[in-house]
Amino acid sequence: MAHDCLFCKIAAGEIPSSKVYEDEHVLAFRDINPVAPVHVLVIPRQHLASVAEIGPEHADLLARLFAAVQRVAAETGVAETGYRVVTNTGRDAGQQVFHLHLHVLGGRSLGPVA
Ligand code: C5P
Repeated sequence: MAHDCLFCKIAAGEIPSSKVYEDEHVLAFRDINPVAPVHVLVIPRQHLASVAEIGPEHADLLARLFAAVQRVAAETGVAETGYRVVTNTGRDAGQQVFHLHLHVLGGRSLGPVA
């Protein structure tokens, strides 16, 4: 667990969250400031700051993250209608929390990507 990382604390259960899915490696919880009817964050329990820290050794973890995305989509009812998966990396993307997270967005027509 990284020192003073908000999402590490959420993953450890030290800060409550609205969980959608969890297993040994991954946690999915509802974003506290949703921008779509479905807005869930999928995070690894392991601390990685962003996409910039992913290496070949994380191949299994990435597969687990996207398997969790599929579970979240099914459980929130957007698997059929469609959804968007976004991960912000660094300053220009507006990354606020430096613990890797995938935003799963759906429940309305999202329009083109910026
Ligand atoms: O990708 P970025 O780092 O900007 O996104 C962080 C997300 O974490 C925001 O959408 C914010 O609403 C969410 N968040 C949360 N619970 C917190 C703090 C932030 O869901 N306690």
